[in-house]
Amino acid sequence: MHAGRRVFAIVILSLLTACETVQTTQSGAVGVDRQQYMAVPSQELAQAADKQYAELLAQAKQKNLLNRNAAQVARVRTIANRLIAQTPVFRPDARRWDWEINVLTSDEVNAWCMPGGKIAVYTGLIDKLQITDDELAAVLGHEISHALREHARERVSEKAAAGSLISIGSALFGLGSLGQQGIEYAYMGVIGLPNSRLHETEADRMGVELAARAGYDPRAAQSLWQKMAKASSNETPTFLSTHPSREDRQKDLAAVAQRVMPLYQQASR
Ligand SMILES: [Zn+2]
Repeated sequence: MHAGRRVFAIVILSLLTACETVQTTQSGAVGVDRQQYMAVPSQELAQAADKQYAELLAQAKQKNLLNRNAAQVARVRTIANRLIAQTPVFRPDARRWDWEINVLTSDEVNAWCMPGGKIAVYTGLIDKLQITDDELAAVLGHEISHALREHARERVSEKAAAGSLISIGSALFGLGSLGQQGIEYAYMGVIGLPNSRLHETEADRMGVELAARAGYDPRAAQSLWQKMAKASSNETPTFLSTHPSREDRQKDLAAVAQRVMPLYQQASR
């Protein structure tokens, strides 16, 4: 057997032995309790993400695109840290994650949270949407929830089960994506692919609860998505291409916001 193929076979074998049905998070007030099928270890994904994140930051720094506006960085970190402080409601181990929050200068309307808690917010999101603190909390709550639920790991697991996984690295980052110019190169195969409708619903609901518990108006998720839709009349925000809108989103967000209003009122007292 060719050495490369042997490694491939070993990777697949070790992946398959790791198959398990898990519940990554506790259901919270919004009741997200779907069981998930995982075929890759959580840690491998987080390690690969950490590496990619470090490379991205180094490149952004070199181009002077990293954390250029101190007040803006402080604003984003304050909001993100208040949300992160609430994550143990869904999963207690998240308090030990090595969270990082950075702001990248880019026209893109985008933000993401990698597996393991590495967060990036693009200045295009802040400036083009003239985003309020409550809306920023809605975006970050949504992104953090994707990471808490390990949706990326679930998607890599689907690839592994389908036999189309070459390596976790290539699945996570996307083959060939490193050749692209600019900080957009961080479009990883996993984060750069559209989330499923199911994953979107879960991230929406959990994100709204995180925001409410952190003292941010849970109704802001609705105005956020309205702004996103409006922004897409000129060009489709990158965020929308990876977080597809769904017809019943506004209705669902309104219902969930209603449910967590008491948590918001408690937190803002
Ligand atoms: Zn999403």
